[in-house]
Amino acid sequence: MLQFDDLRLRVGGTPILRGVTLEVAAGEAVGLVGESGSGKSMTVKSVVRLLPPGSRTEGAVRFDGVDVSSLDAAGLRRMRSRDVAMVFQDPRAVVNPVRTIGDFLTEVLRDQGVGRTEATRRAARALSEVGIGDAVRRLHQRPYELSGGLLQRVVIAAALLTGPRLILADEPTTALDVTTQEEVVAILNEQRAARQVALMFITHDLELAAAVCDRIAVMYAGEIVEVLPAAALHAGARHPYTRALLNSRPGAVAPGERLRTVPGVPQSALTAPPGCVFADRCPHAEARCREVRPVFDGSAACHLLEAR
Ligand code: SF4
Ligand code: MG
Repeated sequence: MLQFDDLRLRVGGTPILRGVTLEVAAGEAVGLVGESGSGKSMTVKSVVRLLPPGSRTEGAVRFDGVDVSSLDAAGLRRMRSRDVAMVFQDPRAVVNPVRTIGDFLTEVLRDQGVGRTEATRRAARALSEVGIGDAVRRLHQRPYELSGGLLQRVVIAAALLTGPRLILADEPTTALDVTTQEEVVAILNEQRAARQVALMFITHDLELAAAVCDRIAVMYAGEIVEVLPAAALHAGARHPYTRALLNSRPGAVAPGERLRTVPGVPQSALTAPPGCVFADRCPHAEARCREVRPVFDGSAACHLLEAR
């Protein structure tokens, strides 16, 4: 359904993505994991062409086989309002603060010609589907009357209302407290699975990605360095960066031991060496690693793994 084909992106001349290749099948959930600045957000934003001014792309993103860069304004609008829904980190940045939850939810349906009564009925049902009770009262409330977790559920309800085939979720729970995070993730997961909607789930948390997704793509400095089934995360991770991320998890540290982090400073696509993007921090780096870019073999990009 969705295909990134050697996608390269420069913004104002600065390289952001250095060749992203990834596929998402219909109904599949793929986690995009990596540190800040690794290009996760830009990768998903390129699907709906929400890129900053001065962006230049090479390669392609295809949705249903159609290169999204070839869509005209109407085609892009149709894709954004019907096929693809987005859920971002901060729900308050998405909803209009002075309008009611009901206005927010019914707007997209009204735009599609659905009558007021029917739109309101569907909005109330959407709220109850994401676990919000007392839906009729909620429809009359304004965003400031709802907690961040409730509001994020409203955004998820809105995302599901138009029956999308793909949800792009960019750190949807990062701004929430841990308990609320778990609830919101559970609802997103449950609704997505029930409706067979595909998901691209951005997070810096490998464990969370594994809990939500079928497959995980690990990004570093504008490249995907490893793709693996979520179920194989612990036993199957091969790339030194993925292994380093796993070792830096709080759970990987014995009680009383200091929290480990991945040693070194996160790389950006701009300063990455011409060879392997992880060479500056990799404990296994050899001379050729800095010079020769490792080939992605379908699961990982690392010279060490090529030899085997
Ligand atoms: Fe480390 Fe070299 Fe593999 Fe890069 S290619 S991850 S530097 S061993
Ligand atoms: Mg981001």
